[in-house]
Amino acid sequence: MKLKSILMIFSVCLLLSLSSFADESPTIKVGLNYGDSAIDGEVTLSFENGFQAGLVADDGTFMPMGFFETTGAVVKASSDTIMVYEGSELLYEGYGGMSVGICPLASELDGEDHIPFTKIGSIKYPEVLQFSANSGKITIINIIDAELYFKGVLPSEVYPSWHEEALKAAAIATRTYTYQSRKGKHSKLGFDLCDTTCCQVYSGITKCQPSTNKAVEDTRNLVLTYNGSLITAVYHAISGGITESAAGAWGGNPESYPYLTVTETPFESYGEIARGHWTKVLHDEDFDSLIASSSHSGKISAPITDIYVSDSTPGYLNNMTITDSAGRSILLRTSSNVRSFFSTLSANFTIGKVYTAEAYASDSAKVITAGGVTDFTAGNYAAILSAQGKETVGGIKRGYFLDGKGHGHGVGLSQYGAQYAAKAGYTYPEILAIYFPGTVIEDYTLMTNN
Ligand SMILES: [Zn+2]
Repeated sequence: MKLKSILMIFSVCLLLSLSSFADESPTIKVGLNYGDSAIDGEVTLSFENGFQAGLVADDGTFMPMGFFETTGAVVKASSDTIMVYEGSELLYEGYGGMSVGICPLASELDGEDHIPFTKIGSIKYPEVLQFSANSGKITIINIIDAELYFKGVLPSEVYPSWHEEALKAAAIATRTYTYQSRKGKHSKLGFDLCDTTCCQVYSGITKCQPSTNKAVEDTRNLVLTYNGSLITAVYHAISGGITESAAGAWGGNPESYPYLTVTETPFESYGEIARGHWTKVLHDEDFDSLIASSSHSGKISAPITDIYVSDSTPGYLNNMTITDSAGRSILLRTSSNVRSFFSTLSANFTIGKVYTAEAYASDSAKVITAGGVTDFTAGNYAAILSAQGKETVGGIKRGYFLDGKGHGHGVGLSQYGAQYAAKAGYTYPEILAIYFPGTVIEDYTLMTNN
């Protein structure tokens, strides 16, 4: 195998740079290392067959200048010039100030589904990696076909074992979100999206699975639109049986996002998931630390004497007034304000006063509760009438009890909800119609205003 001929390896990158056909998906630029995370030093790359090196034009077009049969290379920066080494041998040097592209070579021995990659650490990046140098620091951007990017992203958003209709709904939401946020917050840095939760978690093709790949292929180029424009396809983990509106979560005019409304989702069995149904007890000291770490620091202080919600819509809480014993109060206007203040998984909860006893014993104690004598374990709380066993139970305190559902802001698609809907027999267009009412599924490449 050492005599692998040049003819047996070939470039997939030339095709990439020439792919401007009408029904071809666009190219996405993903920022991997930039700004504070730009690499100070060198980057070690590994390959299956070798790589092509060349220049990357400002529009992202890769212009290969040479290819190298090697399994490893090191990218270094000198001031604003990128250099690629194999050991001490300089293989390729960029022109000062210009980006250098590296694209892995494929082999004829590869299976049909195999996607060639460049490895950085344990992460496999397909297609072009763009390296640029600024004062010796290396910025890395992955330039890839959008549909391949979606295959890379989807396994970080959903479980590949989920129902195929749920995976297809998630694929369309991810694709819509990506196109809608392209040329957004990171465009000044020269890429479309970053690879963290700030945008969407992306680790190349490392996590690709056949099921999520298929969901992307089966929905190729499909996006959600409202009145002919891409929607803001927000999503969250679990809604807890009801979604939140964009205006409820973040304020603003409810008519701005008519497809992000409160929707009941009775098929969502959130109680089966740990994050889907949760409880929390807050005492005076907890309120003091919540207040101190909020934007309302110093405006009120425990003890809290009243919590009042003027919002009458079910589910997520907003317009909540919290009053202290001195009569001072704060207003949490949106459900994201509520979630942030209480530091809870979601703002979909009920809240009420409760009296708790804390068990100081190492194991457990028996207490008389409203429901009779029950075991009471340290760390757990129960509403009690009185305590029994003076050594082990004490510290009866007044507090607030939160009974919560769901995880996330609750707006748009519930990822677990899509899974439960799929298991209940809904197809992906039906699932998307539930979570984004009034929207239409369209082919992005056929939209005139993309
Ligand atoms: Zn980002």
